[in-house]
Amino acid sequence: MSFDTVIIGGSYAGMAAGLQLARARRKILLIDAGQPRNRFTSHSHGFLTQDGAPPAEIAAEARSQLMEYPTVEWHTGRVEAVTGAADNFLVALADGSTYQARRIILAAGVTDELPGLPGLAELWGKRVFHCPYCHGYELGKEGIGVLATSELAMPHGLMLPDWGATTLFLNDAFEPNAEQLAQLKARGTQVEYGAAARISAQAEGVELVMQDDRVFPLEGLFVAPRIHLSPLAAQLGCELEESPMGNIVKTDAMQATSIPGVFACGDLARGAGSVTFAVADGAMAGLSTHRTLMSGI
Ligand SMILES: Cc1cc2nc3c(=O)[nH]c(=O)nc-3n(C[C@H](O)[C@H](O)[C@H](O)COP(=O)(O)OP(=O)(O)OC[C@H]3O[C@@H](n4cnc5c(N)ncnc54)[C@H](O)[C@@H]3O)c2cc1C
Repeated sequence: MSFDTVIIGGSYAGMAAGLQLARARRKILLIDAGQPRNRFTSHSHGFLTQDGAPPAEIAAEARSQLMEYPTVEWHTGRVEAVTGAADNFLVALADGSTYQARRIILAAGVTDELPGLPGLAELWGKRVFHCPYCHGYELGKEGIGVLATSELAMPHGLMLPDWGATTLFLNDAFEPNAEQLAQLKARGTQVEYGAAARISAQAEGVELVMQDDRVFPLEGLFVAPRIHLSPLAAQLGCELEESPMGNIVKTDAMQATSIPGVFACGDLARGAGSVTFAVADGAMAGLSTHRTLMSGI
């Protein structure tokens, strides 16, 4: 079957792109594997009119509105390969189906590589987070930890005092220099040396246990994960760029990638993402794609 545009990833960015194309009466297909990045958390914050709503509810409402448009189709599954070029891309899924498309929108998000600290993965999105704007407010005003995985702990160490008393655990992963120590001190951030051994949930927060047996009760912990892209962008030959958290797909202000006919939006094309930014970038990708469908590449 053939579509004006196949959108790979049917979460916030992909559906926002799809909505613009659907409203332009274009024939589109969204393919989604059903694993949005925020699936580990019960509440999403910071998206206008939906502050505090469960992430799956936001997505379900968006999908039901999108599917009202008669030119939209949905396939639940995983894309394994995209080949071809503008006006004639071939999209192949793990379940053996294939589709043709004039344009491709990559909206497949990223996956997080968490530090290997025992107990941490189970608390991801519940008591361990990466975005203070998303989850800092709920932690109240005391006892927030930052677990260093690299120098990326510095921004967290400097920001989080606005949300509560902050301790930066260097975890043998990062050694601040004199200037950085002075910056942390000026912000009131306490610095703890030594490696962490494990973390566990408590009735009200978490307990971080160090390898030297010191125990720190905390309301929550922040870490900076490494992010990983699906191989599809590289397969298509899209230029990538480095962000502090890992590679992302390089796009211009119209969300166009370096490959004609391929657009990218959401977390996979942004260093630090959110539902709001994914929706904004998705809307732009939808409009830009429509523009090239009208005028040619
Ligand atoms: C723990 C946690 C909590 C968060 N809390 C908040 C919050 O409170 N507020 C906020 O604004 N943001 C929050 N975020 C960030 C938010 O989750 C992301 O910014 C947002 O999900 C990005 O949307 P997206 O559409 O780009 O990608 P995603 O939502 O990650 O969706 C990508 C979709 O593409 C699919 N996909 C991937 N590969 C393929 C493939 N090959 N074929 C088909 N489908 C594929 C995936 O299964 C997924 O459904 C949080 C993130 C995390 C990790």
